[in-house]
Amino acid sequence: MSKDTDCIFCKIVAGDIPCCRIYEDDISLAFMDIGPLAEGHVLLIPKSHAVTIDEIPSEQAGAMLANLPALVKAVQSATGCQGVNVLQNNGLAANQLVGHVHFHIIPRDAGDEFHFNWPAGSYDQGRMDQLADEIRKRL
Ligand code: AMP
Ligand code: ZN
Repeated sequence: MSKDTDCIFCKIVAGDIPCCRIYEDDISLAFMDIGPLAEGHVLLIPKSHAVTIDEIPSEQAGAMLANLPALVKAVQSATGCQGVNVLQNNGLAANQLVGHVHFHIIPRDAGDEFHFNWPAGSYDQGRMDQLADEIRKRL
């Protein structure tokens, strides 16, 4: 398991910094976010250090994400929220502040305080298919 001694989430995994643990197994750890966007905001992380999701072996990502349904159900049931956003900020440009992969589970209710700026755009003729080809080729 890789570890970065300067990483705050690695310190949490190691027990060097306290956290409010929800769940853990060999691969993953879930704990309460200390700066919640809503009460019950939970973080799910891989125990092994990786900065962004593309650095994680797929088996490890699969094992970690297999915990999402149960965590989402538990958060929804415990908070009574109407829905959740599962959010992963991947990279500085995507507002990732902590450089250790984490998935946010954020309780949501209709009319709550949390808003996305979601400026949906559109494609010029042919551009979507062209880009889809480029993405497909790289898988
Ligand atoms: P992000 O902007 O996606 O990198 O979000 C980082 C998240 O980590 C924020 O929601 C913080 O509140 C949370 N966070 C930072 N330090 C801790 C900590 N020691 N324990 C729990 N959550 C933390
Ligand atoms: Zn780390």
